[in-house]
Amino acid sequence: MTQEQWGTIRDELSKTLGANSFQSWIEPLTFIETSEGIARFGVPTNFLGNYVSQNYGDVLLSKITQTNPSVRRIEFEVVTAERPKNPGVQHDAPVPVAPAVAAQPPVNDVLAGSPLDKRFTFDSFVVGKPNELAHAAAKRVAEGGPVTFNPLFLYGGVGLGKTHLMHAIAWELRTRQPHLNVLNLSAEQFMYRFVQALRDRKMMDFKQLFRSVDVLMVDDVQFIAGKDNTQDEFFHTFNALVDQQKQIIISADRAPDEIKALENRIRSRLQSGLVVDLHPTDYELRLGILQSKAETYSQMYPGLELCPGILEFLAARIVSNVRVLEGALTRLFAFASLVGKPINMDLTQECLTDILRESERKVSIEEIQRKVADHYLIRHSDLVGPKRIRTFARPRQVAMYLCKQLTTRSLPEIGRHFGGRDHTTVMHGVRRIEELRKQDAQIDEDVELLRRSLEA
Ligand code: ADP
Ligand code: MG
Repeated sequence: MTQEQWGTIRDELSKTLGANSFQSWIEPLTFIETSEGIARFGVPTNFLGNYVSQNYGDVLLSKITQTNPSVRRIEFEVVTAERPKNPGVQHDAPVPVAPAVAAQPPVNDVLAGSPLDKRFTFDSFVVGKPNELAHAAAKRVAEGGPVTFNPLFLYGGVGLGKTHLMHAIAWELRTRQPHLNVLNLSAEQFMYRFVQALRDRKMMDFKQLFRSVDVLMVDDVQFIAGKDNTQDEFFHTFNALVDQQKQIIISADRAPDEIKALENRIRSRLQSGLVVDLHPTDYELRLGILQSKAETYSQMYPGLELCPGILEFLAARIVSNVRVLEGALTRLFAFASLVGKPINMDLTQECLTDILRESERKVSIEEIQRKVADHYLIRHSDLVGPKRIRTFARPRQVAMYLCKQLTTRSLPEIGRHFGGRDHTTVMHGVRRIEELRKQDAQIDEDVELLRRSLEA
């Protein structure tokens, strides 16, 4: 494979993988050579090589074999920083082949943390009741003033923004205090490096390096629970840094006292700083996050119409975690742009069947009807009855709309619950309320109020 061919593959990957993944994982690769069926790439750290090989190995190989059928395998080698990175397509001639690469990464590589995700900044972090404390604490640490709470311990369920906040702190520190040596890594990487240092008899280097950082961030620390030697080393590193007044930021998926198999002395050290949790998201936060992401997507897919009520629907229905929420939105925009249709309720239901089914709400049609009838002070029999006067028809449409939003029942099924109405009538009702919500503040408020009380 020539550098030019690699350049083409890179360009294609940047389109298919998306800018973030591409920048984090593919851009740092340097193509070295192909020989004897092996394509060799240089990577800045072992971790990156492992990650790329596990997550993008197949994609890379299949791309490469399209132009170079003889390649059967990809290998990664750690190369030092002096080597030119990303020679790019402008180099027609092959770049010098890497000198015999050292079998082990230089010791200094131990200090390379995880690549920071460009998307994970304070700007892109939506603040709501469930995360405002964690956000405020992270902000304070990121200002880099005198160390007030040490460590900062952030905990919360999966996908609630722990890693996002940690990267945001690192980004902020990088701009505010570029002289600081900030190390951000996962507990898993910590262990990996520790084990490697043991194996290579480089413990002294390991210790020195970890003790030379100004800010240490260890993500998902629950990982080292039960791994005695790693815990031990972590504890010593931790103490050394705290003694030097260096800031430590830790995250875990649960509170320190809930992490089993964690040594007591570590637990109490972890609790000695500020412990803040990220609560499960509420509707408002989910909607805020969706709105902010939808804005980004609308720029990525100009001209794509997002119908009113869709984000509200998703925020109400997908309660699991932010990652799932984001995934749903990503898929929705990609799907809509592919089929060239506006993102309306039908398309949403079709495209997200699996996700919606998983997070199926327990709200029943009967419950919705009862609440709506109560709210508009009409009888249930009138709500589902045949009379078409506005006093009954409007609440009926609101109820149909809520049934469509809050349950996974099909239009015909909903129709059956409303005195055997046709599914087209239900569809008309749903559309009508979608439109009215834009024009009529009162209706919008009614719907919102009802939805909230049904979800409570
Ligand atoms: P955790 O580390 O707690 O499992 P992450 O930090 O990886 O969760 O967050 C999962 C995804 O959700 C990320 O893409 C992140 O950007 C996004 N996310 C989580 N909380 C928020 C928030 N408050 N505002 C914006 N995006 C968020
Ligand atoms: Mg995380």
